[in-house]
Amino acid sequence: MDYYSNQISKLIEELSRLPGIGTKTAQRLAFHIINLPEDRVAGLSNSIMEAKRNVRYCKHCLTLTDDELCPICSSPRRNKRQIMVVENPRDLAAYEKTGKYEGVYHVLHGAISPMLGIGPGDIKLKELMTRLQQEVDEVIIATNSSLEGEATAMYLSKLIKPAGIKVSRIASGIPVGGDLEYIDEVTLLRALEGRVEL
Ligand code: ZN
Repeated sequence: MDYYSNQISKLIEELSRLPGIGTKTAQRLAFHIINLPEDRVAGLSNSIMEAKRNVRYCKHCLTLTDDELCPICSSPRRNKRQIMVVENPRDLAAYEKTGKYEGVYHVLHGAISPMLGIGPGDIKLKELMTRLQQEVDEVIIATNSSLEGEATAMYLSKLIKPAGIKVSRIASGIPVGGDLEYIDEVTLLRALEGRVEL
């Protein structure tokens, strides 16, 4: 990339480190940014910095938020006794888009994967177990239907059931290995409504 000046090369390099951005896209983005009016560029870089500085985990469900509690956990309309366990904040967003789920969430920030050396201690399981010491009627396991997601679901159900809490798993219909965030709302809703008790 020597034919670009240092600063352009640096920008392209930084952009190409982002997930899903190859060198070509990084170049296109870099030139787009350079051609933007200065205030737009300032707005972009400010929002990146502000998000980085202020976004943290919700104290209850551990999704990303810029307050102590996320809007879902702080809403009086949500049923705090029904907890849906998801792998990441994007899956939470996918279920929120259906507009039909009235409980709250717990974000694991990953899934158990013996192959990748990710064990129960590497995801937010301990935090979930602490939450379950309060009054909870049902835990809905909505991890992905990948190998890791299924392993996590199995582990969770073994862990939670002895506590006498109802544990259910969202229904199949979601393609195996399918990431929740790419699935349409109707399918997600059907999976939620057709959940089976474990
Ligand atoms: Zn929350």
